[in-house]
Amino acid sequence: MKTFSVTEFRKQFPILQTVSDSDNIIYFDNAATSQKPLVVVNASQHFYLKNNANVHRASHFLSAKATKSFEVVRAKALKLINANFENEIIWTKGTTDAINLVAQSYGLNFIKSTDEIVISAGEHHANIVPWQHVAQQTGATLVILPVDDNGVIDLNAAQKLITNKCKFLAVNHISNVIGKINPVKELIALAKQYKATTLIDGAQAIAHLHVDVQELDCDFYVFSAHKMYGPTGVGVLYGKQAILQSMPPYQFGGEMIKKVSFNGTSYNELPHKFEAGTPNIVGVIGLGACLDIFSDEQFTSMTHYEQQLNHYLYQQLNNIEQVQFLYQGCPDIPVFSFVLSGFHHQDVATFLDSKGIAVRAGHHCAMPLLESLGLNGSIRVSLAAYNTFNEVDVFIKQLQALCLGELSEKEQSSLSVASD
Ligand code: PMP
Repeated sequence: MKTFSVTEFRKQFPILQTVSDSDNIIYFDNAATSQKPLVVVNASQHFYLKNNANVHRASHFLSAKATKSFEVVRAKALKLINANFENEIIWTKGTTDAINLVAQSYGLNFIKSTDEIVISAGEHHANIVPWQHVAQQTGATLVILPVDDNGVIDLNAAQKLITNKCKFLAVNHISNVIGKINPVKELIALAKQYKATTLIDGAQAIAHLHVDVQELDCDFYVFSAHKMYGPTGVGVLYGKQAILQSMPPYQFGGEMIKKVSFNGTSYNELPHKFEAGTPNIVGVIGLGACLDIFSDEQFTSMTHYEQQLNHYLYQQLNNIEQVQFLYQGCPDIPVFSFVLSGFHHQDVATFLDSKGIAVRAGHHCAMPLLESLGLNGSIRVSLAAYNTFNEVDVFIKQLQALCLGELSEKEQSSLSVASD
């Protein structure tokens, strides 16, 4: 295996290059969005400077060039997740948009009042609210699979809760709060026994795991480019061809039509049927540039490094008495959620921010999960492959200083009294 050089990898991210000490940033909020490498920025700039034209429509040279560089990325995305056909890759705005597409098109048309839609207690709001809406509109019942003490979807409970009423299963591959890999293959197999349709929210998994949709045998897999070093505003909906073909369009307008007359309209073939209007061309091209990071060899050594960092941070956090993890055990990817006893989560984030360390505090768009633990927020620290052991040490030192009360008067007075 080629060894991964974090120093070389970091060089690709201009925002991480320290200009001065006061500018120094330790970016530990990667589960929210990752930083962007120069190749992504350059690809976007190059497109606007040299290739800019709309795709799929004009008969001129620039449009042909734009279309080619745009469509090439579909093949790269297919390879990333091992889809069967290029037209199974639908460009969306991101994970949320992709789930909404499936909920509106599949959910509202194929789910009936006697059906059950099964999700889990650990879902992001993006994989709860669209299904609540479908349940309200169709009269279907929303069934919630519990997570166990380790934060993983409970398979024993799932065996009882997934029944012949289950029409749709939508669960996350890895939760953005818990950082553990869910047994999605087993859950999909369970749902398939009852001919249910399945969707996996891969927003957190895609940057850290090798995903093979054919091996998982899921019907849909969704993710966002911006959490895997790519641009914001673009994401992927993978769907099995036959299911996508059976579904009505989600949005209507240009691109998604074959023929329009005032007597009626016929729709385009996949994938265009689900890509109404001008797509995020530059976003897709930026995603294409960042997908080269995910070449098999680089990815294997990169995730190996991430695992070492993950275990190191877990050990270090475990040494701080006041750290209370939300769930037992080391996460599978470097996403750590905890509370610091005696401190309000927001205070901890504000203090760390004053030291140049960016973490997240709040409910992380998973209010039901936090509420089930009696919390209205936690601190979340999430790492990427450009983070270093040294950064972890700096972070731990600051957290210890906070716990030991080694703060200046100014820092002390900026902390509010922990009210919850
Ligand atoms: N699901 C999970 C597990 C996530 O972590 C996120 C982003 N935090 C989303 C869905 C939504 O992704 P986006 O905001 O890119 O649509």
